[in-house]
Amino acid sequence: MKRRRSFVFRLRPTKKQRRILQGHLDECRWLYNQFLEQRKLSWEELDQSLTKYHQQQFLPLMKKERPSLLSVHSQVLQNVGDRLDKAMKAFFRRVKSNEKAGFPRFRGVHRYDSFCYPQSGFAVEGKHIKLSKIGKIRLSLHRPISGKIKTCTIKRLPSDKWEVSLSCEVETKPLPKAEVESVGIDLGIENFAFLSDGSKIDNPSFFRSSEKRLAKAQRALSKEKKGTKKRSLRGKRCAKIHRKIANQRKDFCHKESRKIVSKYQNICIEDLKVKKMIKGSYYAKTITDVSWSQFRQYLTYKAEEAGRSLGIVNPAYTTQKCNNCGEIEKKQISQREHCCKNCGYTTHRDHNASQNILALGLHSLGVSPRSLRL
Ligand SMILES: [Zn+2]
Repeated sequence: MKRRRSFVFRLRPTKKQRRILQGHLDECRWLYNQFLEQRKLSWEELDQSLTKYHQQQFLPLMKKERPSLLSVHSQVLQNVGDRLDKAMKAFFRRVKSNEKAGFPRFRGVHRYDSFCYPQSGFAVEGKHIKLSKIGKIRLSLHRPISGKIKTCTIKRLPSDKWEVSLSCEVETKPLPKAEVESVGIDLGIENFAFLSDGSKIDNPSFFRSSEKRLAKAQRALSKEKKGTKKRSLRGKRCAKIHRKIANQRKDFCHKESRKIVSKYQNICIEDLKVKKMIKGSYYAKTITDVSWSQFRQYLTYKAEEAGRSLGIVNPAYTTQKCNNCGEIEKKQISQREHCCKNCGYTTHRDHNASQNILALGLHSLGVSPRSLRL
């Protein structure tokens, strides 16, 4: 099975390269607006729609009139036509379905921030990316690229930094059947996750220590006056801690999701959007919150690649309901034990929840109840 995955890296262009990159954006934007103008005229005055093939025939003429276009790789220019074509098609689709449809707009300087090599004209060479008509730009290769690179998109961020997004075709091989048939996962506050087989994933210690460090750095930052050198130093320190936390969190989520996917066949987990609403903001610490989403995201694509099934569950009663008898009883947030008044079933509150998640998840996957209990 083949699938696309994007790898995004920060670029480290020199001053001169920055100017060239910006020049590329300017040329592409000019062309986009020019193509749009043509489409607009033919639509409004001639009542017919141009195709991108029509438009591309104008390119040689345009290059003669505006020789600076020649400084951009020809496929990058063609891609500008493709983009406009997509925007036009979306427009006509909305018109057809009677939705509110605005004609695609002309782009101002700040409204055009990327260009794309759709097939060729680029190559990753060591720590550099070689771009046709631009040269070799250093890139921060923080993780290895896998698969075959199909397209290369260069983007200017609002902070005036540049990044490259490489869309790769990755060959995925389903893993052999997992050793354990099913698992329910309850993402929690006390532990990162509780699993229906009774095991758990602890919160990594950096959750708390990094949070403290960040809070301290942010307090120090807020004390400094704006525009001072000290303030800019403290700002950089905060950014550095942020980056470090992000990397640690990513590593952690990759590692834990990989373990789950290699061990279990049917993986049941709550719908996070709903869960966050239920938990409320009191308990939701940012770092835990972000980690849940990331873990879930990694789990989803890893499960898909490995040929595992993912059961998504509404978390509405997963905590209150007794997994043994089905009795529903409200629990305080501070109450860590599940102790059923009806049947006497006693276990950790999150363990009970994970067993409910498993049952609901398997039901939604249509797996037989025989394998419900582990
Ligand atoms: Zn019970």
